Amino acid sequence: MAEYNVKSLKAEEFINDKEILDTLDYAEKNKDNLELIDKILEKAKERKGLNHREASVLLACDNEEKIKEMYALAKQIKKDFYGNRIVMFAPLYLSNYCVNGCVYCPYHMKNKHIGRKKLTQEEVKKEVIALQDMGHKRLAIEAGEDPKNNPIEYILECINTIYSIKHKNGAIRRVNVNIAATTVENYRKLKEAGIGTYILFQETYHKKSYEQLHPTGPKHNYDYHTEAMDRAMEGGIDDVGLGVLFGLEMYKYEFAGLLMHAEHLEAVHGVGPHTISVPRIKRADDIDPDVFDNGIDDDTFAKICALIRIAVPYTGMIISTRESQKVREKVIGLGVSQISGASRTSVGGYTEEIRPHDTEQFDVSDNRTLDEVVLWLMKMGYIPSFCTACYREGRTGDRFMALCKSKQIQNCCHPNALMTLKEYLMDYASEETRKVGEELIKSELENIPKEKVKEICKDHLEKIEQGIRDFR
Ligand code: SAM
Repeated sequence: MAEYNVKSLKAEEFINDKEILDTLDYAEKNKDNLELIDKILEKAKERKGLNHREASVLLACDNEEKIKEMYALAKQIKKDFYGNRIVMFAPLYLSNYCVNGCVYCPYHMKNKHIGRKKLTQEEVKKEVIALQDMGHKRLAIEAGEDPKNNPIEYILECINTIYSIKHKNGAIRRVNVNIAATTVENYRKLKEAGIGTYILFQETYHKKSYEQLHPTGPKHNYDYHTEAMDRAMEGGIDDVGLGVLFGLEMYKYEFAGLLMHAEHLEAVHGVGPHTISVPRIKRADDIDPDVFDNGIDDDTFAKICALIRIAVPYTGMIISTRESQKVREKVIGLGVSQISGASRTSVGGYTEEIRPHDTEQFDVSDNRTLDEVVLWLMKMGYIPSFCTACYREGRTGDRFMALCKSKQIQNCCHPNALMTLKEYLMDYASEETRKVGEELIKSELENIPKEKVKEICKDHLEKIEQGIRDFR
């Protein structure tokens, strides 16, 4: 049996099943060990993160008082590293052609009653303009895996099209990519095309379950899938996004696996994951989520989010519209730093007047418009941010982490967020949103520590008011 070796490039060694089972056993045995739990919480307060064993003990602990402490700490860490900014994005589905057999996804090859669609470049353009008209600046492109219908050349062409569209005041400034595991050579091509984060959900870290849940197609290969982030980094992509599809396997197993994956990336490449996504399985065309008996309730979900924030303080956390307004509200406070808004999960969905369901990947729980989401965030005291400055200035990978660790976010990301919010308010917002936003900007300007930075920000805000765009 393979030994646990965090630096190995072999999946079975860095996501070692025995190590996960040992960890779960250790966590279960210590879940009432308050002395150890306090020690772990003390370590977490240093804001340098926790390893998978320590974090798993906290996850196993069901002492109400200690859980409250975990939540308070997660909230504080989020505030220290990310302030009150929430980065906004939208998914863009390019194609639902897929040769895989994933049993939880309606795009699986055997599904004959779902409409198959692949956007032409003209359609990509129309979708992007629709997204720009809402005010989006960041996209995550999504596609099924199909080497004939969606080869890498198609994905690259779409990225090129997206970046080239200039429309009114809008331009997509960062394209993140969520496509199937691929080769180092293809990752290099994606890097050259100027992508932001390469996102790939592990779905489940449990190898046996993984193989059963992906019975056919290239995605069946657990090792190839699990080692994808190493190949992506070898190909020059230094922002990678991990994720687990919660509900497929036991959450404690997934949680330990996810953190081991993050530890592995940090150990080998000197930089951990840029983001972690926490999707939960949803109803979809021929998919009934109740068939999967590892679903987690909202409280467990919130605890997982809080503990990810504590365990990997510098990693962004993403929540999609799979979750309802209520759940999103809870986890944003506990550590989520990026959310999608006004998402459509169908191919070509943004150009349709009424939300189409025929090519949809899963049901969306939060159906609000971007303007409604922006207003909701601001009313809760958050700053919706459309900023992409780090990416555009080459602050990716360890350079972004260094910015985060130096706590310069209040002097750098905070003013940038205000400027991009101002652009949004001027160009896209409803009257009510604009009013609330202007007040928020006024009060948040005072939270920029450096006087000089504050003055520059004020000057830029005035210029935006006069019609100049694209400071960030
Ligand atoms: N084809 C790429 C891959 O294999 O990773 C991209 C996948 S898909 C467009 C994005 C993600 O949607 C998947 O990785 C999966 O976790 C998630 N997903 C699939 N079916 C889902 C469902 N029924 N409910 C919620 N999320 C789902």
